[in-house]
Amino acid sequence: MNNWRDKLYRFMQGRYGRIDELGRFLMYLLFGLLLVSFFVRSSIFSLLILLVLIYDYYRILSKDISARYQENQHYIQAREKVRTKWNKLTGSHRDSTHRIYKCPTCGQKVRVPKGKGKISIHCPNCNCNFIKRT
Ligand SMILES: [Zn+2]
Repeated sequence: MNNWRDKLYRFMQGRYGRIDELGRFLMYLLFGLLLVSFFVRSSIFSLLILLVLIYDYYRILSKDISARYQENQHYIQAREKVRTKWNKLTGSHRDSTHRIYKCPTCGQKVRVPKGKGKISIHCPNCNCNFIKRT
């Protein structure tokens, strides 16, 4: 056991190393791919796993810290975009002050404030009113 720690320390010095958001995502991705590869016997998954693994280690061992940092920022921005799109798609945005009701007559979505008790909601599309508890 002669100074392998020192060697490792010297090797890692000045390298990016730390696991950031993108690194964590890559880890999850790797884990997911591994799981899928148990069920789906396809060489594509093995190749994907290898590519992700290489990219992950490339980032960890990289000495270009600012480039890795930029990558991570891009990833975070892209993730936020996907998240907003997904929320819009599923209509499950975290709005705790409002609720969305569908007009029973025409199906128009109407946004109403939460916590007002039983209220009559006016649909701007077909001009009907319906009662809901908010
Ligand atoms: Zn309506």
